[in-house]
Amino acid sequence: MGDSMATSSNHANNTYRGKAPKYVFLFIGDGMSFPQITSAEMYLGQKNGTKALTSEYLSFSKFPAAGTALTYDAESFIPDSASTATALATGEKTLGGVINMDVTKQIEFTPISKKLKEQGKKIGIVSSVPITHATPACFYSNVPSRRMAYEIGLQLADSDFDFYAGGSFDQPTGADKDKVHILDVVKSKGYNVINTKEEILELNSESGKTVAISPVLDGNAMTYEIDRKADELALSDFVKKGIEVLDNKDGFFMMVESGKIDWAGHANDAAASIHDTIQFSKAIDEAVEFYNKHPKDTLIIVTGDHECGGMSIGFAGTGYETFFNKIDRVTMSQSKFNGIVKEYKENTSKDKAKLSDLYDEIKNAYGLIAPTDEDAKKEENKSMVLTQYEINRLEEALKQSMRDSEDRIYTDQEKVMYGYYEPLSITLTHILNNKAGIDYTSFSHTGLPVPVYAIGVGHELFNGYYDNTDIYEKLAAITKVK
Ligand SMILES: [Zn+2]
Repeated sequence: MGDSMATSSNHANNTYRGKAPKYVFLFIGDGMSFPQITSAEMYLGQKNGTKALTSEYLSFSKFPAAGTALTYDAESFIPDSASTATALATGEKTLGGVINMDVTKQIEFTPISKKLKEQGKKIGIVSSVPITHATPACFYSNVPSRRMAYEIGLQLADSDFDFYAGGSFDQPTGADKDKVHILDVVKSKGYNVINTKEEILELNSESGKTVAISPVLDGNAMTYEIDRKADELALSDFVKKGIEVLDNKDGFFMMVESGKIDWAGHANDAAASIHDTIQFSKAIDEAVEFYNKHPKDTLIIVTGDHECGGMSIGFAGTGYETFFNKIDRVTMSQSKFNGIVKEYKENTSKDKAKLSDLYDEIKNAYGLIAPTDEDAKKEENKSMVLTQYEINRLEEALKQSMRDSEDRIYTDQEKVMYGYYEPLSITLTHILNNKAGIDYTSFSHTGLPVPVYAIGVGHELFNGYYDNTDIYEKLAAITKVK
């Protein structure tokens, strides 16, 4: 230990002399740091009848190696997903919004996925959000701005990688809607593009280069786990299928992003965050099952790219207590509740709008009960009854919601209360979070470090406290790429 400290330029141990693993999984929970993981574990712990926090519940938190990575980028302590995924994929710090290029936006970096492709491995890229989004894009493209989704899609088509799955393509006909449809371009490069459950479940090692798009989409992303119906494909299904498609004698590299943990963080949606984190763990379980069959040839790394929302366990109004059981009352994402507010707006004039019109919808979505409701008298509902203070907040928010977006007032106070989210929905989310003993500080990312977990070949390198660029350095050392 003393030796390595003396000879290393930093605290990270990035030297590896063992044999390289054949199969490598890199799981990235977007916006996932300690609070997102711990809240999911506490929720499951509470559900299973114990308040003791164990690491029994999310498979990856009991991996044999655990470390902590700093996430700052070339311009800010609070980074975005483009600069952090560039760091993870290439070991280089860059500016926010930049995909695999240097701070001058002139020099292109080569991601580890391309280097591993050159070694002869098959490559899979899976994401629950659009496949052209910043995190997946950093594993197959180089562009000066993450907004260039069509250009990113063109580079995907040219990547010759073997498996893309999950969300669909942003800007499918370009920013000005005047280009050849991206799926036609992708098909012209020899990809089999599929989007039905039947076709996806039939995938196997003979399937060839594949782009498998979730049959159920919300925009171009997969739905939040909390909104997913039981018969719809989950992130774990795409990982399972990816393993079947990629499995071959020369090995594979698979990057899997759970992108909506981040979106839930921006929206301060604790229930959605917890359910997406649990689903992410199930996706990781698929890799663990594969690892159990090939323990001497497999490496699995799980990390986050940055924290999002400034989530915390503990709220001023609940002190030392948490009530994770209240998360169970939530039946849909805030994003889905926005649809209910939108419909109400379409059918109600501004001067007629009143909160009580929505009490049934609020009760169904959040479990929050109006004091006038018969159910408010029941003992088990007491803590879910809206207080006068909460009703006042909701009435204020509804007024703001009823304004057309052009007439909406964004005072400093409103920006802090609602961000740019649907005012009534986000206020309901905040009230529910707080009743559970959870709070958020931001609608943006934060500068918190992220945990890193590893199991398998070379896992011991991931112990310690280091920089996110070291995750690339360790992976490069272990897989012996140049
Ligand atoms: Zn984000």
